[in-house]
Amino acid sequence: MLHERHPCFVFRFMNGRFPLFCFETRFWGITLGDLSPEDSHVIITAMEDQHRKFMKAALKEAQKAYEKKECPIGCVIVKDGKVFVRAHNLKLTKSNALMHAEVIAIDKACKKLGDWRLNDMDMYVTLEPCTMCSGAIVQSRIRKVYFGAYEPKSGAVCSCNDIFNVEHGHNHHVEFEGGVMEEECSELMLQFFKEMRERNKLK
Ligand SMILES: [Zn+2]
Repeated sequence: MLHERHPCFVFRFMNGRFPLFCFETRFWGITLGDLSPEDSHVIITAMEDQHRKFMKAALKEAQKAYEKKECPIGCVIVKDGKVFVRAHNLKLTKSNALMHAEVIAIDKACKKLGDWRLNDMDMYVTLEPCTMCSGAIVQSRIRKVYFGAYEPKSGAVCSCNDIFNVEHGHNHHVEFEGGVMEEECSELMLQFFKEMRERNKLK
């Protein structure tokens, strides 16, 4: 049995090795032997590893923001199984309220592609997007958003709002999955706010 959420197709050749294509993630993988529950687990683990790989790239971007004393949010947009663009929050550095990691990444991706439609791309971002970024994600027609930490105070994907919901009147449905490497993503945010409080105490 394969995982219900990951429709995969396994090609049965190559002398006992099974090349696998996942239609959701569009990643290729290889498993060995028959597709027993254990093998299915291997496949699912391989796909989770891909999600972790891209979230780690987003976390690296968040770390860059952290080093600039910006709120540590990082983001990558993935196309054809590869990182297409990277970005991190630059709101303070640029003195510009629009410079959230997701908006910068969308801007970079549109420029690089020469098109405003990012239909076949997925976004990995360390924190649940805000209202502005969720709107920009819908407008750019990103296929799926994977986010790390939930944002209970202003998250607009599922915590405080549900901007991706087509019932709001837009004609593009963005899929999402929260909690990817949640602990690591939350840890960086907590560390940032702890240091900010300490800095403010010293003033
Ligand atoms: Zn935002």
